[in-house]
Amino acid sequence: MIYQNDKNFALQLDQQDPLASFRSRFHIPMRQNGEEHIYFCGNSLGLQPKSTKDALHQELEDWKKYGVEGHFHAKNPWMPYHEFLTEAMAEIVGAKPIEVVVMNTLTVNLHLMMVSFYKPSGKRNKILISSNAFPSDKYAVASQIKFHGLNPDECMLILDPVEGEACHREEDIKAIIDKHGDEIALILLGNTNYYTGQFYDMKKISAWGHEKGCKVGFDCAHGAGNVPLNLHESNCDFAVWCSYKYLNSGPGSLGGVFIHERHAHDKEISRFEGWWGHKKDTRFKMRDDFEAIPGVEAWQLSNPPILSMAAIWSSLKIFKEANMDNLRKKAITLTGYLEFLVKQLGNEVVNIITPEDPAQRGCQLSIQVKHADKRLYENITKEGVIADWREPDVIRVAPVPLYNSYTDVYQFVKILEKAVQGI
Ligand SMILES: *Cc1c(COP(=O)(O)O)cnc(C)c1O
Repeated sequence: MIYQNDKNFALQLDQQDPLASFRSRFHIPMRQNGEEHIYFCGNSLGLQPKSTKDALHQELEDWKKYGVEGHFHAKNPWMPYHEFLTEAMAEIVGAKPIEVVVMNTLTVNLHLMMVSFYKPSGKRNKILISSNAFPSDKYAVASQIKFHGLNPDECMLILDPVEGEACHREEDIKAIIDKHGDEIALILLGNTNYYTGQFYDMKKISAWGHEKGCKVGFDCAHGAGNVPLNLHESNCDFAVWCSYKYLNSGPGSLGGVFIHERHAHDKEISRFEGWWGHKKDTRFKMRDDFEAIPGVEAWQLSNPPILSMAAIWSSLKIFKEANMDNLRKKAITLTGYLEFLVKQLGNEVVNIITPEDPAQRGCQLSIQVKHADKRLYENITKEGVIADWREPDVIRVAPVPLYNSYTDVYQFVKILEKAVQGI
């Protein structure tokens, strides 16, 4: 698309946007002056769908009305409640229903996956992780290594970008796997990096890893609901994500897990188990032996929090209507417009560290402003922008196709332009 640096052009794009009406399905946080914020933080906490309140209310009412009988008699019976989410969630991440379950939270799930897929043995005892991985992922990895009686300094193999660059080059990822493949037990990367916004080719990385006998898992916290994940096709062993970022399911809401179908009937696989992973027809017989549900549901431990699931379901219905392909299409032009306008600033202190290739990013752009400090962020916040600041000098902004507009993008860049003057 040929973009124009012009407010009317932005308005025109909004008028032509087939997804524009979805904005009114969300609560946009208001400023004190009664105007809407420019909310570019959907990569951190997605906005609340207006339908979520009623979804929660329904479960509170059924609890009031039925007590424990709600497990069977609620409008949406609680007993199989997680199953109501599976198909829509699987569609978003490009997986088969047997490969996807909603349970626990992200870091918990990451640990559960490492219990099953990090099996250090002899020389093959390392986990490959990126230097710019999210801190929680690094803590989880280091503690798993220690749990096996090993030393994280020796067993965490760090993938660094080339000196002076923020993003990884594909050939460097391949090179480190080729070189150290027989020492790597598990490759664990963020499929869309939280800091740079780089979106990795999971299929290639999985193939490189598998060729060397490594297990491969991805943290899709910044990918789910943002980029086409095609998890089944990607052939990775597992993936985990949360539902409160792009998936708009509320603070601390439950996460999602993918385990590839090829592990679905593996009776030898080790995992931590609980009653909710037991076969449904005999679960309540409380027999001595654990009989696993085929597929990823076997990893469930506890009966899940219905209120959190109600919020997820309400959000997934919106995604089903909007459709991931349509959202991706809009995300590419919306983020492309943001990139165009930021470049138009022609200010050499402003530099986008996210890859230029739309195939290698989602909707987030990470904008580095050299010599800036947190005052810059405070200044744009005063003007009504909600974004995210990462020390020392990066603003992360995520125009989300479900509820952000081209006008949001245009106004944001005007505010940024003013804020960077004089830096
Ligand atoms: C958001 C995020 C987390 C947060 O983990 P929780 O267990 O949900 O608190 C972890 N890893 C990555 C990559 C994230 O983006």
